[in-house]
Amino acid sequence: RVKADGRGSYHRYTASLHHDSVRELTIETRLRKAIKEQSFDLHYQPKIDLKTGELLSFEALLRWYDSYSEQQISPAEFIPVAERLGLISMLGEWVLERVCMQQVKWHKEGLKIKPVAINISAQQLMKGDISQTVHRVLKETGAQASWLEFEVTESCFIPEQADRIAEILHNLRSAGSNISIDDFGTGYSSLSYLRRLPLDELKIDRSFVTDIAVNADDARLVSTIIAMAQGLGLRVVAEGIETQEQLDYLRDHGCHQGQGYFFAKPSTKEQAHDWLATEWNPLETKPISA
Ligand code: C2E
Ligand code: MG
Ligand code: MG
Ligand code: MG
Repeated sequence: RVKADGRGSYHRYTASLHHDSVRELTIETRLRKAIKEQSFDLHYQPKIDLKTGELLSFEALLRWYDSYSEQQISPAEFIPVAERLGLISMLGEWVLERVCMQQVKWHKEGLKIKPVAINISAQQLMKGDISQTVHRVLKETGAQASWLEFEVTESCFIPEQADRIAEILHNLRSAGSNISIDDFGTGYSSLSYLRRLPLDELKIDRSFVTDIAVNADDARLVSTIIAMAQGLGLRVVAEGIETQEQLDYLRDHGCHQGQGYFFAKPSTKEQAHDWLATEWNPLETKPISA
């Protein structure tokens, strides 16, 4: 296509590359500063039991408000930069500490604790032994391993490192945390590889869920993933549920858990606190007060 379009598209291409690298450099400078000043925040998004509407757990998602541009910068943009710069472990440790401290606080307030899932990037998993870091932070904060879950993506599963990755995940899991494979379907991990890993949960990537109500191919793909996960003995969670139709399809095809704007967007710790305190149920029809 680039060839057919000739010079024009070549120039557009280099122009956008240049723009991208300038933006990345800008993000890099601000990210280093933001890490130093800890100007991040965590939002919490519920995972819901699709049958009962019960709040089962949360996923912690990093938020960065960049005061220079006066904008939120998406983790989808700054996490890869942090990985390239080798800053992700520091950032990841901050997330881990934050989540543990939050859970301890909620526990002391007498709330019934639900696990909080933390996203772990490939680099974090490979650099050192994250299970030791987790062990230390649990001890320092007084949080319990079962209050944490870890989401890893298929990009973490480098074939040459299979044994090491399995060992690290095993350490996290035998300490009492659940392990979840995130964005499933977007990577290249083979079934034989998956079978060797100690996993509890599989999350179907949002890109497959979006069109299940209108696209028969996507619908078949998703029901196949659900059946496969069940065959592997894994809990299945659908990401990105936005409509009643998507919810109905997933529930009818044996998917027991889900996440998405249909239930709730990632929200502040104060909102999460209220959800816990009121035993909030997004599928319950609220009685209309007179
Ligand atoms: P993810 O782990 O797959 O998280 C799900 C993303 O989908 C989140 O985007 C969430 O806000 C969004 N989402 C949830 N429900 C819906 C929905 O119904 N519709 C739509 N359109 N989107 C929905 P977010 O917060 O921008 O995070 C993007 C990615 O950044 C995450 O994808 C994760 O890979 C990464 N990330 C976020 N926080 C962390 C972190 O603390 N550490 C690491 N290593 N990565 C993180
Ligand atoms: Mg995730
Ligand atoms: Mg995901
Ligand atoms: Mg995703």
